[in-house]
Amino acid sequence: MAETKEHSRKELRGIGVSSGLGFGKARVMAMAPLQLPQYSITKDKVPAEKARLAKAITSVNKEINQMLKRTPKRAPKELKSFLEMFKMLINDQTMKEEVENIIADRLINVEWALALHLEEIKSVFENMTDSYLAERGDDIEHAVNRLQEELLGKGSRLQAEVKSALDEVILVTNDLSLADVIWLTEFEALDLVGIITEKGGPTSHTAVLSQTLFIPAVVGVAGARSMIDDGDLLYVDSNTGQIICNPTPEETEEIKEKVREQENLYSEFYRARRRVAETKDRRHKVKLMANVAMIAGLDEILHQGAQGVGLYRSEYLFMGRNKLPDEEEQYENYKELIEAMGGRPVTIRTLDVGGDKLLSREAKEANVPAGLLNEEEENPALGLRAIRFTLANPTLFMTQIRAILRAAYKENVKILLPMISSIFEIKEAKRYIETVKKQLETEGIPYNPDVPVGIMVEVPAVAIKPEAFLREVDFASLGTNDLVQYSLAVDRGNPSVAPIYNECHPSVLYLIANTIKVAKKLGKPVSICGEMGGKRKFAPFFIGLGCEELSMAAMQIPKVKKQIRKLNKEDCERFARLLLRKETAPDVKETIEKFLKKHEETHDK
Ligand code: PEP
Ligand code: MG
Repeated sequence: MAETKEHSRKELRGIGVSSGLGFGKARVMAMAPLQLPQYSITKDKVPAEKARLAKAITSVNKEINQMLKRTPKRAPKELKSFLEMFKMLINDQTMKEEVENIIADRLINVEWALALHLEEIKSVFENMTDSYLAERGDDIEHAVNRLQEELLGKGSRLQAEVKSALDEVILVTNDLSLADVIWLTEFEALDLVGIITEKGGPTSHTAVLSQTLFIPAVVGVAGARSMIDDGDLLYVDSNTGQIICNPTPEETEEIKEKVREQENLYSEFYRARRRVAETKDRRHKVKLMANVAMIAGLDEILHQGAQGVGLYRSEYLFMGRNKLPDEEEQYENYKELIEAMGGRPVTIRTLDVGGDKLLSREAKEANVPAGLLNEEEENPALGLRAIRFTLANPTLFMTQIRAILRAAYKENVKILLPMISSIFEIKEAKRYIETVKKQLETEGIPYNPDVPVGIMVEVPAVAIKPEAFLREVDFASLGTNDLVQYSLAVDRGNPSVAPIYNECHPSVLYLIANTIKVAKKLGKPVSICGEMGGKRKFAPFFIGLGCEELSMAAMQIPKVKKQIRKLNKEDCERFARLLLRKETAPDVKETIEKFLKKHEETHDK
């Protein structure tokens, strides 16, 4: 594109999903296609071409083995499984034989044969509607491409790009998969200051992962890769979703100043990490907890001032792998998390797969009864997800409960059940938990018999009439991401409907307020663990409702804490009552903005 070649200034917009500003050079992950030599060979050259294939396989294999050895101890477990899966694809005997046959039958060089093989595989995968399988097609492509790069005498293009990336990189990609995160974790030398993806919504996979990595991210930027060139200067504001590509020299100065301010602010936040989140009048304290998706960067969470883990999304340990973690692996994982928190409370949510969080086909086939293997769910968010999936697979559920109860021995751990929509589900889950306790007792294995059991309130049916649900459990946690999705009937991960995904909707606020009111009446602790919990602007509302615990991406903690310390309880109560009387989302938004503005002014006087 002529326009992009000139490195012209342009503004793009997407959905800001974490917080902070990033300024750096674009690294566009649409890697240029390989320039593959294609030539015919004579019959006597066939063994030599086959030998070249074998040699490439051996050397890529060696490279992966080295990577496996170098894997940092604290890197997420998924890193190892992904590398192992990659190794498996590289060593796939069928692939090798098929490519050898193409070489011998068509009398062509190996690079060309690999390309033909890939084309064939891609045509099979392209017709698959299942997004997980489509991703597997991408994995195979990745493996074949790596072999081709090796044959051309080149290292991995991704690694080469990362090596040449020097510093302050903003990654521009279609989507950030678990595999991408793993590459990023592996290449610690990469100074990643921002992520831009074309896909994704405010509570998508990408959002969760970028927050885990403490990286400013903007998602849902359609066409980003065609509009941004490698090496373009990029400014990313993940608070507002604004992106400036190749800013003017004046803007660049302003941006640098903003980024410096942000750095100063972070060091201020860092200094404040030990302060409690208490209102100015000292009448209301809020526990600020972290949402955790992976056992990586746990020290960072404490640096941000987290008082524990309010939501451990255990499903990330189960995703992106063919063999699910057994009891021992889960036990080690939970133990590591609990130990890293050093006695602070840890809430482990049982497997929340389904919807946008998928298990691999192999993992499903090996663990799920055939009758339940419905690959073609038309509405996966309304399908066999979360507690519905685990209750349908009691062995899986009980294995996880065993691992949690064992890891919780003499520790401060709670179990959280996702996507509850009926009392029956709670009763069933509790029945399995009791069965597991009896098993562990009989086997003489140490475990914690007093682990509180709570539910996610994220289905409107629960939030509308929470009494009976809450009576059954020890605590509750409001999952606002799904609560918004289900109450407004809007896909939380679909950028085309992102504007309708409105947390300020009066009905959403009502459902939250109702749940908290009933929980308080019944004396059940209730927290907020969806994205709303980490937004500064909602803090006065939650305090006004009497909420005493908020769980959020750790990077949001300092800002929310700063906000809380400016507020007075009575003002917040009055404000919450006012907000609940508003009848439209714009009214709600305006009322919040007015309150915050007025408050800033009085606070700063
Ligand atoms: C939620 O739904 O708000 C939540 C915290 O859970 P998840 O985002 O993992 O579905
Ligand atoms: Mg949820």
